[in-house]
Amino acid sequence: MASTRQETVVVDGLALAQDIRQDLAKAVERHVSTGRRAPCLAVVLVGDDPASASYIKGKRRACARIGMDSIERKLPATATEREVLDVVEELNASEGVDGILVQLPLPDGVRPNTIAEAIGPDKDIDGLTPINAGRLLLGEPGHRACTPLGIMKILEHHEIPIEGAHAVVIGRSAIVGKPISLLLQQANATVTMCHSRTKQLAAVCRNADILVAAVGVPRLVQPDWVKPGAAVIDVGVSIIDGEWVGDVDTEGVRGIARIVTPHRRGVGPMTITMLLCNTLDAYEAHFGA
Ligand code: NAD
Repeated sequence: MASTRQETVVVDGLALAQDIRQDLAKAVERHVSTGRRAPCLAVVLVGDDPASASYIKGKRRACARIGMDSIERKLPATATEREVLDVVEELNASEGVDGILVQLPLPDGVRPNTIAEAIGPDKDIDGLTPINAGRLLLGEPGHRACTPLGIMKILEHHEIPIEGAHAVVIGRSAIVGKPISLLLQQANATVTMCHSRTKQLAAVCRNADILVAAVGVPRLVQPDWVKPGAAVIDVGVSIIDGEWVGDVDTEGVRGIARIVTPHRRGVGPMTITMLLCNTLDAYEAHFGA
C-alpha cells in the first residue's frame, strides 16, 4: 500500500515576527510624529542570572528596533520582596511607562505571584496578574500572555482551522498551558489539557488536530504521537550538551504534520513580538490609537 506523505511546513516564526514588527514600527512612528512620546517598556531584573540578563537584552533590543523606548530597573540577588514591590509600584505610578515586565525566575524569598499581583493590570503586558488571568477566563478584553498570543498568530497565519478542531495542550503552566488552552477554546476548539499525570498521553495526542507541547522534556512528542495533517506547536526549550532541544522530534514529524514550529525561530521570536504588541496596546489604551 502506498503511504501518503504529508508536505510539512516548518514555520518561520522569525519571518512572521519581523512582518508584525514592521507594522508595529510604523504605528510607533505615526504616534511619535504627532508629538507624543514613544511607547515605553520597563523591565525589572532581580539577581544576576545570565540567561535572564540575555532575555532582557533581547527584549530591549527588540523595542529599540521598532522605535519603542525601554528602561531597565536592576536589583541585586539580595533584594527583598519589599524592595522589588517598591520598584513595581514606582513603575505603576510612572506616566512614562506603558508596560512592566518582571523577568522570571526571581531569587528565593521573592514570591513571583506576589510580584505579579502588584503590577497594575493596565501595564501587565505579560498577562500574568490575577485580573488579566481572570479576564481571559471570562472571555473579557485584557492583556493576554505573550507565548499563547504568538501561537494563535502562527495558527492564524497558516490558516489552521480552529473551530471544531480537537486541540491537545501538554503542560498546564499559568504562562503557557492554561492560557493557550483558554484561547483555543474561545476560538471554538475542543481542548484537552494534559500534564505530568495524564495517562495514555501518546494516545490522547494522536487525536489532536492541533498539538501544543509546553513541557520542557526534550523530544517528548514522537512521530507516532502525531495525527497526519496536525498542526504541531513546540514551545519547550531544553539545553542538552549546549544544544537547544524542543519538546517535539521535529525531524521525525516532517512528512506527518501539516505544520511544525522548530525549536529555534519558531515560537520564541513571536513571544517577544507579542510583548511589543501588548506594550503598544497599553500605550494606545492610554493615548488613543
Ligand atoms: P512549566 O515548566 O511551569 O511546567 C511544565 C508543565 O509540563 C507542567 O504543567 C507539567 O505538568 C507538564 N509536564 C512535565 N512533565 C511532563 C510529562 N512527562 N508529560 C506531560 N506533561 C508533563 O511550564 P512552562 O513555564 O509553560 O514551560 C514549558 C516549556 O516551554 C519550558 O521548556 C520553557 O522553557 C518553554 N517556554 C518557551 C517559551 C518560548 O517563548 N519559546 C515561553 C515560555 C516557556
